[in-house]
Amino acid sequence: MTDLHTPGGAVGSPQPTGRRAVGSLDGRRALVTGGASGIGQACATAFAAAGAHVTVADIDADGAQRVAASIGGEAWHVDLADTASLHDLRLDVDILVNNAGIQHVRPLEEFEPDRFSFMLRLMLEAPFLLIRAALPGMYERGFGRILNMSSVHGLVASPYKSAYVAAKHGLEGLSKATALEGGAHGVTSNCINPGYVRSPLVEKQIADQAKLHGIGEDEVLEGVLLAEAAVKRLVEPDEVAALAVFLAGDGAGMISGASYTMDGGWSAR
Ligand code: NAD
Repeated sequence: MTDLHTPGGAVGSPQPTGRRAVGSLDGRRALVTGGASGIGQACATAFAAAGAHVTVADIDADGAQRVAASIGGEAWHVDLADTASLHDLRLDVDILVNNAGIQHVRPLEEFEPDRFSFMLRLMLEAPFLLIRAALPGMYERGFGRILNMSSVHGLVASPYKSAYVAAKHGLEGLSKATALEGGAHGVTSNCINPGYVRSPLVEKQIADQAKLHGIGEDEVLEGVLLAEAAVKRLVEPDEVAALAVFLAGDGAGMISGASYTMDGGWSAR
């Protein structure tokens, strides 16, 4: 007789019952990397407001502590670029947000090799190691939500950001591979692909590009970053967090291996 059972339930069986309401993460445990600032802080705050217990992981110990205290969560002071320290990790979380990242703007022929490998460690190898650490617990409980903070530059390239573009394209592949392996265990994996979000990372990028092109910062914002967007403003961090809450929810169990752009229409052309 054909065995119709998978670890995720009988094939063709209805949705699991007892689902939380849309927008509720009640009782879930979440880990948000880079949670001390910008998008990560907004996700940590929104997850806590939705009922999750949140651990804020960041290299910025004071920032992580500050955000954790403000949401009744915990802080984890960690340098995620020190990937060897993550090899033996085991994480007991229901929701993992791989969000920590940095930007570095430099023409390819001048791009520092050490900086390139550093960025790949932080933005690709660390997400792999955290996913690897979280999956066994998620598999045991039959539930998991992995959110990878990619970028529109995970889908299309941009000049002078070779390490960032390479890391984010890699993250897209890692996310899809995770979706394929995790699906039978109730684990979904998705990418969020913001355009330019109002955060310290983008402020630094605007300053770097102004220097590179010899133009003013306003000109970079209007003439370069927002030139091709349909909606002529930066994305707000809490707009990204609202999507993250939805994707982390019980109702998003059939969304996996996907990439969600939030770029004010930039990629529509
Ligand atoms: P941000 O600079 O505000 O926050 C990044 C956080 O990561 C900081 O708290 C920082 O301390 C932490 N971090 C940096 N290096 C770390 C390390 N070695 N170990 C642990 N933590 C570390 O940036 P943001 O704009 O909120 O970006 C968050 C994520 O969103 C990044 O992955 C970024 O690539 C992505 N993203 C940002 C934008 C944007 O426009 N801001 C657009 C698309 C994607």
